Amino acid sequence: MRILLVEDEPSAARMLAKGLREQAYAVDVATDGEAALYQAHVNDYDLIILDVMLPVKDGFDVCREIRAAGSAVPLIMLTARDAVADRVAGLDAGADDYLIKPFDFSELLARVRALLRRGEVLQTETIKIADLELDTQAQRARRAGRAIHLTTKEYALLEYFARHADRVVRRADIAAHVWDANFDIFSNLIEVYVQRLRRKIDDGHELKLLHTRRGEGYVLTAEEEAHA
Ligand code: CA
Repeated sequence: MRILLVEDEPSAARMLAKGLREQAYAVDVATDGEAALYQAHVNDYDLIILDVMLPVKDGFDVCREIRAAGSAVPLIMLTARDAVADRVAGLDAGADDYLIKPFDFSELLARVRALLRRGEVLQTETIKIADLELDTQAQRARRAGRAIHLTTKEYALLEYFARHADRVVRRADIAAHVWDANFDIFSNLIEVYVQRLRRKIDDGHELKLLHTRRGEGYVLTAEEEAHA
């Protein structure tokens, strides 16, 4: 899942980005309203965290313009004051949720998870594909009851596959939602990660779950044997 974090205060931006990355999110940071709008326009974010007080263009305007462009991306606004007028303005501008500064990082994470769950299909905390189980809150995976040890990035990749189970996931989708703007599209990093992940989830199991569709991408499915 890829998040755009819009925060002009360098120390706060660094701290939030670091915390979110530790939770396996890919994070891009924008430090003013115009930059935020540009990035929201060129990248397909799964969620936006938007500070209200920003240089160039404030968070209310950024939010309004994102909605006016037809985007329904989940958006959390960070307001500095607990003023009813601010909260109302944020929600009116099209925010899905808001947090009042200073807030607890764990609360931000809970709200991020809640909004990401709200997607097209109601997503539960546990995702199951055959005997593979993902606990999306604890960010742990098990297969046949046994824990699989994954790095943060490997987990993020697996969760992305799991949320799109039975569908072909293209390399470009992975680059856009699992990696951030620093990802080099010409590197073979995705292939390397997919191989590593496949070894960890499929080795020693008769039923293979992670399949390559040549020229198309990858599929995580329990019903692919015939096409493999
Ligand atoms: Ca600010």
